[in-house]
Amino acid sequence: MTLTRRDFGRLGALSLAARFTPALNAQSSPRKIGYAVIGLGRIADIFMRGVQLASNSAITALVSGHRDKADRIAAQYSVPSGSIYNYESFDEIARNPAVDAVYVALPNSMHADFTIRAAKAGKHVLCEKPMSVTVAEAEAMIAACKAAPVKLMIAYRCQYEPTLLRAVKLIRDGSLGKIQSIESAFGFNEVAGEWRLNKKLAGGGPLYDVGIYSLNACRFFTGEEPSAISGYTSVIDHDGRFDEVEENVVWNMKFPSGIVASCATTYGAQMDGYLRIQGSKGSLELDPAFNYDGVHLRGRYSGTRIDEPSASHHPYQFQIEADHFSNCVLNNVEPKTPGEEGLRDMRHITEIYRSAGISI
Ligand code: NAD
Repeated sequence: MTLTRRDFGRLGALSLAARFTPALNAQSSPRKIGYAVIGLGRIADIFMRGVQLASNSAITALVSGHRDKADRIAAQYSVPSGSIYNYESFDEIARNPAVDAVYVALPNSMHADFTIRAAKAGKHVLCEKPMSVTVAEAEAMIAACKAAPVKLMIAYRCQYEPTLLRAVKLIRDGSLGKIQSIESAFGFNEVAGEWRLNKKLAGGGPLYDVGIYSLNACRFFTGEEPSAISGYTSVIDHDGRFDEVEENVVWNMKFPSGIVASCATTYGAQMDGYLRIQGSKGSLELDPAFNYDGVHLRGRYSGTRIDEPSASHHPYQFQIEADHFSNCVLNNVEPKTPGEEGLRDMRHITEIYRSAGISI
């Protein structure tokens, strides 16, 4: 067969196309980050549903102390039985190429151990809040992930929530004028027997668990670290639930710009978390502010009124969170809420307790 100059040209184009075809295919079905979920409780269930909606993420392994529960969930997410671990066999995950990252959804005092073990296994870590129960643990988690090196993100879902981000934008662009004060609270009525009431597992009471939302939001909204903190704790219900941890915490913070914040948290009353921000030109209210669904922004500033309920539906916050962390892993980018962000909250939590006369 004789090939003309034109045939050569066509063949060249075809071979070029062939060389690029795999890349194009890769683009149409991007690689998914495989997650091992550690602790198959309430938040893990919601996270896994969020992962299913994220285009770049998949559940590829489970870690649980209850094999029957793990088998049931594995069937739901098509996780092979060889990718189910318990807390003792967890370190074998190092040899599982289907696992890129772990999601730590255990009681607070177990976060540090499993984060450090995951880092040693060469897996990236998305860890639930609170990052740890002590500052020293948080520092050790950051050091282990840096040494590995793997990425570490703390699951501050509210820092990814579009309605909260809209409020932050209004503050940053000056719509509210100079921010003067913030008020926030979040809590619920905890039932007896929960690990959250056990100091060894939880570290402390509602401040670690839900008060941290108000603390983190004040820091996120002001973009500043508090320069002075004072707090009080109390127990009102002497029914045995609060033998180890406090029932109520209130604390005040002063930020370097002069902004003052007043926050409260409780395990003794059911409430939707809220945030109220007062500025020289107006105010914003997020109520509810921290729910999984139905975040609602209202405001009045410089002759404008807004009333914006979130249009998204549960579990969108977890989808956004997984999407963000997977993108960070895929593109080697630092997460927006890295370990250092969790460490800063741990330092302030320690200071609130210290001010209230409690050492942790
Ligand atoms: P949960 O009690 O529903 O689940 C905890 C899981 O840990 C269970 O699967 C349990 O079997 C396992 N576990 C292992 N050892 C345990 C032990 N010694 N005692 C008790 N449980 C043990 O708790 P949860 O509400 O899913 O909370 C888990 C973590 O997630 C906590 O750190 C919490 O602060 C955090 N959290 C985050 C959010 C959020 O919106 N980001 C919401 C809820 C909880």
